[in-house]
Parts: sequence; C-alpha cells; structure tokens
Amino acid sequence: MSKESIQYKNEAEIELLRESSLLVGKTLAEVAKILKPGVNTKALDELAETFIRDHKAVPGFKGYGGFPATLCISINDEVVHGIPGNRIVKDGDIVSIDCGTYKNGYYGDSAYTFAVGNVSEEARLLLQRTKESLYLAIEQAVVGKRVGDIGYAVQSYCEQFGYGIVRELVGHGVGKNLHEKPEVPNFGRRGTGAKLREGMVIAIEPMVTLGDYNIKQDNDGWTIRTIDGLPAAHFEHDIAIRKGKADVLSTFSYIEEVLNKQQ
Ligand code: MG
Ligand code: MG
Repeated sequence: MSKESIQYKNEAEIELLRESSLLVGKTLAEVAKILKPGVNTKALDELAETFIRDHKAVPGFKGYGGFPATLCISINDEVVHGIPGNRIVKDGDIVSIDCGTYKNGYYGDSAYTFAVGNVSEEARLLLQRTKESLYLAIEQAVVGKRVGDIGYAVQSYCEQFGYGIVRELVGHGVGKNLHEKPEVPNFGRRGTGAKLREGMVIAIEPMVTLGDYNIKQDNDGWTIRTIDGLPAAHFEHDIAIRKGKADVLSTFSYIEEVLNKQQ
C-alpha cells in the first residue's frame, strides 16, 4: 500500500489534505466530549464514524489492511492499533485515540492521548512531554532539513526523561494513500535520511513509553503494547513541508477547547 517513491503534492492537493486532517481534529473533539469513566470504547468508535460520514467523508482506517473500526483506541500499556469494543474506560486511564479520514481522495491522520479523570503524575508528564516532542519535531519539518532531524528532535527530548522511543512503528508520508514514503522514525541522527522538500506532506507521530521501548502484538493481530506493561503515549499531526515554517494541516485546537471546558 505504501508507494515506492515520495508523492509530491501541489497547493490544491495540500488544501484537500488540510480539509481531511481538520476533520480528524473535529472528530476527536466530538469523541472527547463523551470520553469519561464508564464509557465503552465501541461507543466512541460509533460516534466517530457517524460524525465522519455526516461530513461527507469516510473513516480512513476502517477496512485498511482489514482493520475493523474507525478509531484505534489504545489504553495505558497499549501503544497503538487497539480495537474498540466492550472495554470500559476507567478513571486514571490514558487513552490514545488515532483517527483517519478519507475525503475527496485524500487522507487525514491524527492522534491524541487523553488523560481520563485522575491520572498519575508520571502519566500526566508522559503525555505532556510526548506532545511537546511532537512540536519540537514539527519545528524541524521545513525545507532543507532531513527526516533524521525530526527523529532526533523526538528522541533527544524524550530520552532525557528516561522514556523509550518505539522503534518498529514510524510516521509516514500521507496523501492519496494513508501510508506513503518517506518513513519518519521517531529516532535518528541529525542531517541523515530523506531530504525534506516543498510538496511533501508527512505524518509525524511520536510513540513514547514510560519504560522500555520494546513492544509486542496481541493475538488479535492488531493491538501493540509494551512488553514491560508500562504506559505509552501517542500524538500525531499531518504537516506540509514549507520553507521556513512547517504548515500543520491537522489541529488539536478543537480537542483542547473541549478539554479546557471540562476542567
Ligand atoms: Mg494515525
Ligand atoms: Mg499515521
């Protein structure tokens, strides 16, 4: 499914990608409104699917490689690709919700990890710092930098806190396909890897663990979790590479508007 070579986008295509990406942020904000202790993850998924379809788009993940749902919902030690179902969200959980949309031929792909109720201080910091690492990485997502500069930004920031950086799962180009070239690892060396050029659109998605970075896959064929059982966080934005300053196509502003009202 991933294209062999980097697919460069023109301005019209970038605007379509922005529309799909913004819809992900709006969908996650709707989900945030009902994400509370006692809700089951299937209910979150159904809300997201209805909202996306009401906006003349289709869920980007459903059916992708056989994935059965609209959202990937990954709780606590689950890193990514958790399948929504009967599981009940509890007070103190951290809940990563990754969402994809497909509209006008282009994908949006963005993720946010939510603190539900009273989470531990170490979990709260893990979320805060993982999100901070995403924005540090975005600062590197400009013409003339390389993919390794992005990975280095995430890794160097997170490792100072003793966190792990998941190796097997990476960010990616995004466009007419959900996963395109280049791969965008969350670790790396400065000045290495693919050169960033105007017209590239990439998803940057740090997956950061409180303990060791080693992961395993559940028997469901999807859910990825830490081997040591410690929690993980995941934040993701879609970015168009520009000269001087990255153009973030997705947004957390709708989500954080909802969260700020809940406080
Ligand atoms: Mg994603
Ligand atoms: Mg992605």
